[in-house]
Amino acid sequence: MNFEFPPHLSLARLPTPFEKPIRLNQGLEGHQIYIKRDDLTGCVLSGNKIRKLEFVLFDALREQADTIITCGGIQSNHARATAFAAAKYGLQSHLVLRGQLEDSQSGNLFLNRLVGADFTFISAEDYRDRVDEIMSALAADLRRKGKKPYIIPEGASNALGSMGYLNACDEIRLQWQKMNTKIDLIVTAVGSGGTYAGLLLGKFLFDLDCQIVGFNVAADAAYFTERIFKIIQDVKIQFGLDLGIRKTDIQIVDGYVGAGYALSQPEEIDLIKQLAVNDGLILDPVYTAKALLGLLDQLNQGAFADCQNILFVHTGGIFGLFPNEELFK
Ligand SMILES: *Cc1c(COP(=O)(O)O)cnc(C)c1O
Repeated sequence: MNFEFPPHLSLARLPTPFEKPIRLNQGLEGHQIYIKRDDLTGCVLSGNKIRKLEFVLFDALREQADTIITCGGIQSNHARATAFAAAKYGLQSHLVLRGQLEDSQSGNLFLNRLVGADFTFISAEDYRDRVDEIMSALAADLRRKGKKPYIIPEGASNALGSMGYLNACDEIRLQWQKMNTKIDLIVTAVGSGGTYAGLLLGKFLFDLDCQIVGFNVAADAAYFTERIFKIIQDVKIQFGLDLGIRKTDIQIVDGYVGAGYALSQPEEIDLIKQLAVNDGLILDPVYTAKALLGLLDQLNQGAFADCQNILFVHTGGIFGLFPNEELFK
């Protein structure tokens, strides 16, 4: 099927490399894990959110916005990536974050302050129940002051943002063709669903013979199945891309949220240390450590036995380590 991607900016350093961590793979039988280094899409403009922002920010610039409003957790990688991308184009950013300023001033929060973002801090309850409403009210207020705000939803995980990972899927396909390797399984962490939705759309659009599996790092599989399906429906409505994807095509493996979103357990911290020491690879505590721990545990239990070559998408998040230094003592 021919599909024309919507216009987008070029923010990410692409293509990101494929790597095969030697020591991680020595411990595996019958599988090879490759890492897709999407943590290397940039320095502060790093991680998976940049791919989505290439599309969403293009739209904001086209609408001649001067202020970008978005939201996330106190250490949101998405908020940081958005704030830096906005600054690159001379736009003000306003971040609606779940938590309080006292919580931590390091990591992403430090970077957000450095780049001149404005902030609204809200409680977990307000975030859950009415973050979109709060962002709309903020936009209305800015409009009254003569500004042109543009709202990016959580994680830039809307139909437009998912195009970033539809695009990434094409990149992956070309890379594995070049390597003459067939990938049987692509794995990603799932936090707001846009990355997974884009990869699944890519599997269907490019007719890839592989499974796409997500490990949720918050809520549960049922919640994300609905949320991802909604993004896929919206892609059909907005871009006329109907790939016949059903809810049952969405594969989310539950059970590795651990202590909760952005809360770490010793096994996760141990895996971060292990991969750093053995392979010089740095995972983040909020997403990739949980997802990789989940994948390794599933392989250990005999799941995905027919999947020889596995691609784990390293979605970034290094700055989430710094507010958690004490967990490594
Ligand atoms: C946001 C994020 C994810 C999850 O991606 P979604 O598209 O929100 O599901 C995974 N890893 C990192 C490091 C992230 O910042």
